[in-house]
Amino acid sequence: MTGPTDMGASSGLSEAAARAAALRTEIERHAYRYYALDAPEISDEAYDALVRELEGIEAAYPSLVTADSPTQRVGAPPSTAFAPVKHAARMYSLDNAMSIDELDAWFERLGPDVLERGCAFVAELKIDGSALALTYQNGSLLRAATRGDGVTGEDITVNIRAVKSVPLRLRDEARPIAGAPPQESLFDVEPDEAPRASWPRIEVRGEVYMPKASFERLNADQDEAGLSAFANPRNAAAGSVRQKDPAVTASRDLATFIYQVTEPRSLGLKSQSESLAWLRTAGFRVNPDIEVCDTMERVRAFCLRQIERRHDLPYEIDGVVIKVDSFALQDELGFTAKAPRWAIAFKFPPEEKTTVLREIRVQVGRTGALTPLAEFDPVLVAGSTIARATLHNEDEVRRKDLRVGDTIIVRKAGDVIPEVVAPVVGLRPEGAEPWSLPDTCPSCGGPVWRPEDEVVARCTNVACPAQRWERLGHWAGRGALDIEGLGYEIIGRLIETGLLCDVSDFYTLTPEALAELDLGRLKKDGTPVRLGPVVAAKVFANIEASKDRPLARTLFGLGIRHVGSTVSEQVAAAFRSLDALREASEEQIASVEGVGPAIASSVSAFLGNPDNVEVIERLRRLGVRLSDEGRIAEARPATLAGLTFVLTGGLERYTRDEATAQLKEWGAKVSGSVSAKTSFVVAGTDAGSKLARALELGVPVLDEAALVRTVETGQPPVPEAS
Ligand code: NAD
Repeated sequence: MTGPTDMGASSGLSEAAARAAALRTEIERHAYRYYALDAPEISDEAYDALVRELEGIEAAYPSLVTADSPTQRVGAPPSTAFAPVKHAARMYSLDNAMSIDELDAWFERLGPDVLERGCAFVAELKIDGSALALTYQNGSLLRAATRGDGVTGEDITVNIRAVKSVPLRLRDEARPIAGAPPQESLFDVEPDEAPRASWPRIEVRGEVYMPKASFERLNADQDEAGLSAFANPRNAAAGSVRQKDPAVTASRDLATFIYQVTEPRSLGLKSQSESLAWLRTAGFRVNPDIEVCDTMERVRAFCLRQIERRHDLPYEIDGVVIKVDSFALQDELGFTAKAPRWAIAFKFPPEEKTTVLREIRVQVGRTGALTPLAEFDPVLVAGSTIARATLHNEDEVRRKDLRVGDTIIVRKAGDVIPEVVAPVVGLRPEGAEPWSLPDTCPSCGGPVWRPEDEVVARCTNVACPAQRWERLGHWAGRGALDIEGLGYEIIGRLIETGLLCDVSDFYTLTPEALAELDLGRLKKDGTPVRLGPVVAAKVFANIEASKDRPLARTLFGLGIRHVGSTVSEQVAAAFRSLDALREASEEQIASVEGVGPAIASSVSAFLGNPDNVEVIERLRRLGVRLSDEGRIAEARPATLAGLTFVLTGGLERYTRDEATAQLKEWGAKVSGSVSAKTSFVVAGTDAGSKLARALELGVPVLDEAALVRTVETGQPPVPEAS
């Protein structure tokens, strides 16, 4: 008899089987594009996420593992455009550790006695290029091959001869000593002591890659020649060594790092660290950033250091490879079907992940703008969990062709803001419909209007509650009247209970009314949760304090279209009171620096609207200061206007918030991410990826002393000549 549990299990299995099959087809399509065509459609991180999902399903349902599953294979079959080369020993892939925890799990898998037996590890950079096998006969380069599917690769000898760092002849100093027993290390013997034996056949392995600068030049040339750009340096390298015409390979600036001797015993080498030293002696280019670690702690520290400096290197790396140093121990540990057990690739925390798009919700902003918002299954990206991201506008959703139910690739733009990169179209569920914006406002049902030349559609109902909520939240928010304790939740409740309608109503609230506010949740005993007298007193005091804010804040708080915090500063500095601004003509407003005709017309229209005039008059009656005249502490002049700062690392003199507020008072912008538009990056102690990004983009970097000078004097910093 089949009980409900069995039914559940079998439907779970059939669902998993269907998903695994879909994933396999999709992974194979991308592997073909990547390995055979050198033209990937999705990022490595997104690809790895698909593989991981498949691995997860196969681990939960071992009966679903197939011999030809991409989880069981290396690379892709070699292209028939090149002569096949059967590798003397298989070229394996590497297992991945996606986090320090997974790295620790690998240490555990090695067995408890491994470290006790004096096991050391060699930590190397994982070069993001294309795997290469070089065979030398009598000390001369005989053949170069790609990895292919690990068993058979492609013969690319003529092309590799053009890569300058590949020695065509090995250096004599590396030749084994005649008569030395094979188990004796080369390094136990003084090189000049004994005559050399003839060269054994030697195969070495490594990575051929394209430096970042060469990659950028190549893509610029491709662009000029009307050819399509390479997706990344790895694909450019893989494509360049697999050219029909060796002259093309020669014209591409390729380099190599070699990290393995296939038959080290024939050279008397006993460990990976000895192999690396021998490779150097033999004339190969060996990466200098290598550390022999005698503790796991040192391995972890090496990995974490590389995360920080990866963007500073002139070539791309996508992780760290950790190898058991001793060959005797490597032999004991052996291989799985796909990878050695004695090595692991610690991959950098992915900046892109896949998840499922559950809903595209439409938000109504304070100006009525309708903004689609992607809601997806929560995923951990670059250190925090994200579950939603703005999609900006309808055109953007259409351009990306995002549909509810899609598997989507998400990341954090500039390491902070969640962003939907693209859908994985191959995993689209049947019947998923293209998305379009609703014809009516999702909040009030009012009409939606999108002017022909604009990308933003708006709800045209001024009484729309969603707009009201946003407008009131904006007034109380940070850059505006900054009323601490009055967040969107409380404001929402105040609107619902009829206590708030427009911004002047904030100043009619009493501590008693606030204390009684029902927060819409129930206590365990079934009675409603209220704000309570203690919090209410604080909120009330903060509302009172907000009556005395500088004019720029009040202007910004009114939420006039096109009037952001910078424009508010400029306008407030020019007119000094709301009355003076109301009396000014549109032309006078437009003549203020940084304010054009569009902004001036928006300001005039707002101040000319009788409803708004009524609110302003009420604010005045309720004691809100609408002028900077007679203020004792004058607002600072906007001497840093137009400059954008990014703060990173620890500061001693200020907290991050204080430094931000100080810079803003001088009119500067402070942003959370570094881009080419950033004027200065302030690097405190232990500054990380933002500093690296600044150096990469050539953005001037300031230390804390320079920041202190800037906020004390208001004078723009002078970048030091480099
Ligand atoms: P891998 O690149 O993750 O790791 C194995 C390889 O690392 C080795 O074969 C070797 O060539 C290289 N390596 C670099 N430095 C090394 C060092 N110091 N020591 C040892 N080896 C070193 O695994 P893989 O099997 O080659 O390929 C999987 C990679 O290809 C993944 O990163 C995946 O995202 C990417 N990929 C992407 C797509 C796509 O569509 N974007 C498709 C297929 C594969």
